[in-house]
Amino acid sequence: MSICPSCDASPGRPFGTKDGFSLFTCEACELTYVDPMPTTEELAEFYRDYYKTRQYRQKLDSKVRRARRRIRRVKKGMVGSRFIDVGCNVGFAVEAARQCGLQALGIDIDAVAIGEARTLFPDCRFEHSSAEAIASADQRFDVVYCSEVIEHLPNVVSFLQAIQKLVTEDGLVFITTPDLGHRSVRSNPYAGEFIRPPEHLLYFTRRSIERVMRRHGFSYIRFQRSLKPTLKVLAR
Ligand SMILES: [Zn+2]
Repeated sequence: MSICPSCDASPGRPFGTKDGFSLFTCEACELTYVDPMPTTEELAEFYRDYYKTRQYRQKLDSKVRRARRRIRRVKKGMVGSRFIDVGCNVGFAVEAARQCGLQALGIDIDAVAIGEARTLFPDCRFEHSSAEAIASADQRFDVVYCSEVIEHLPNVVSFLQAIQKLVTEDGLVFITTPDLGHRSVRSNPYAGEFIRPPEHLLYFTRRSIERVMRRHGFSYIRFQRSLKPTLKVLAR
């Protein structure tokens, strides 16, 4: 029997299979997840080649511009200027935050991406680290930015606990993730590349991300409007 990675022991109903992975949807929180999750070794193997296959450097200027628009929107509701990008990749949102006048730090568990980020954006600060490690070092931030990260994680609970520790009391966590509930996706989620294990292990809708985040300690949860199949969540 499959077990929801967010709820303690709620079984899931079959959601389908792709590339040899089975997916289930939790009856309680409606999170859709891969089960069994790949092991740490399997994920390490997968991500060893991942960086080479994804064209991270492509359209870098437009990525910085898009991140700048997003950060300006988030900044409106923000006090203070300490910004962290968790899963910063090659650092375009960190550069965007710096351009917006924030004290920006980017972290990523991918050492190659951090090396690349330091070369591309030498005026920004980057660390090869995880949300869990930075949180346990008692660092706090006014904005915790996590774009397209949460869907990759086999252990969503420790991640949510870490980012909750990272954010100040009146700060904001900003999460984006693909929207399984979007009208362009929900009628046929297996069309195209939307469902893609082991890269994406978790699939959220508005309702399920709200339930998962509430369960793990977030009380303020708001959604930004989005025309694309992307959830944009502001929370603390
Ligand atoms: Zn659940």
